[in-house]
Amino acid sequence: MSPSDLRAIPSVEKVLQALGDTGLPRPVVLEVVRAELAGLRKHRTIPDFDGVLARLQVSLKGLRASRIQPVINGTGILIHTNLGRAPLGPEVIERLSKIGSNYNNLEFALPGGTRGGRAAYLERSLALLCAAEAATAVNNNAAALVLILRYFCRSLARPDDRRFGIGTRRASLPKNEVIISRGELIQIGGGFRIPEILESSGARLREVGTTNKTSIHDYARAITRQTALILRVHRSNFFMGGFVESARTEEIAALARKKQVPFVEDLGSGAMIETEAISGLEHEPTAAEVVGRGVDLVCFSGDKLLGGPQAGVIAGKSKLIAALKREPIFRALRCGKLILSALETTVDLYLRGSSADSSHPNTAAGKRISREQSHRYAGIPVLEMMRVSNDELRSRAEKLIPALDGLPIAALVGVGHAQIGGGTLPRSVLASVTLDLAHHTLKPQEIASRLREQTVPVIGYIARGKLKLDLRTIFPWQDAELVSAIRAASS
Ligand SMILES: *Cc1c(COP(=O)(O)O)cnc(C)c1O
Repeated sequence: MSPSDLRAIPSVEKVLQALGDTGLPRPVVLEVVRAELAGLRKHRTIPDFDGVLARLQVSLKGLRASRIQPVINGTGILIHTNLGRAPLGPEVIERLSKIGSNYNNLEFALPGGTRGGRAAYLERSLALLCAAEAATAVNNNAAALVLILRYFCRSLARPDDRRFGIGTRRASLPKNEVIISRGELIQIGGGFRIPEILESSGARLREVGTTNKTSIHDYARAITRQTALILRVHRSNFFMGGFVESARTEEIAALARKKQVPFVEDLGSGAMIETEAISGLEHEPTAAEVVGRGVDLVCFSGDKLLGGPQAGVIAGKSKLIAALKREPIFRALRCGKLILSALETTVDLYLRGSSADSSHPNTAAGKRISREQSHRYAGIPVLEMMRVSNDELRSRAEKLIPALDGLPIAALVGVGHAQIGGGTLPRSVLASVTLDLAHHTLKPQEIASRLREQTVPVIGYIARGKLKLDLRTIFPWQDAELVSAIRAASS
């Protein structure tokens, strides 16, 4: 018998007392301790009391780190899906805290004192921003797609399908085919595949064209009585070059009108500004532009380039928006008061930013917010981060370096290549400034991992043997926290 076999399993009480304040609720800690002690009972070798404590500390640390918490984003990726996508600006946060801590008129009409419509103001302002007849919002863009597909794809044609002519006489035909180009059957981020979303919504895929070429004739040939809609998916997270052709949105829209088939575009990121006005960025189609080209509906995310909370915006023909809202599943996909108020405030920031010259430029279909106006969207952090000059970033980096004096780490100002991320503008790069760290003894991977363990975790990336922290995605007010984190991690 080895000495460890003789050791008794410590009592739960004793262990809890020795752990002290873990920063986690007692029932959570209790469960971890019980599971750990139960595990020990199964093993022949039992560590000593300190060993047991050490193992528990590791488990609890992992648990604490898995709670949602602020981090410093040094990746240079502005819309980072793993890091919560678009951060929200001060006006939006103030609104959230007011709405969250009070009762509100979510579904109450103040003038009459009766039940009122949900999100009425937001829907109007979203429509205005998208230069569309009407708009609404759901939980996210995936939900927007599901709602649209559910509405248009039926196993049986219904009487009101007369709106879209085809297939109404033979009521028994399933009307659930979605025409989509083979070049647009894409995967967006982890586990979100357009074909799978389609099929799970009761749609049948009717692929047309080839990976690199889809012409208007391919679409035209595919339209039958079973066609539920034509879907276009903005190729957001990759690009195709070379021998490539796709039908223009205007052409598809004209075809769809002629054949009375609805035409929907999933735009993905929902830009509202002329991205090409920012050096390094290409043009990203705006919702207003796509509506102007004749789509019946467009959908996009609230927390990508729009810079708002997680949401899915749908804009387009008012009849269709009204019909979508009558779908039973709409109730399951709708947003709560916090999201609605955050989105409402974000949209107001855009409309304010563009209303300086009295008439809103976006009301004429397809007209984009002007170059000059794209410089006005204060309060939307994603847009502000795009516009910060490298001089400004460099001067911040130069101030950070002396603050790191005396540490076993070499810090230099480096060159960065920031990206939009979130599956947006994959080819665009924003020149940026980084803080490059090289520890005297620790490997870059080790210093990166230590930085992730700090009170405010710092996430960077490794390039050419250095840990790089891109200042474009680090807010200026995080600089002091950044210094503390680097100090704690490197000494
Ligand atoms: C990001 C994206 C989605 C998913 O949007 P969520 O808001 O994350 O649900 C759908 N389609 C495209 C083209 C996208 O880029």
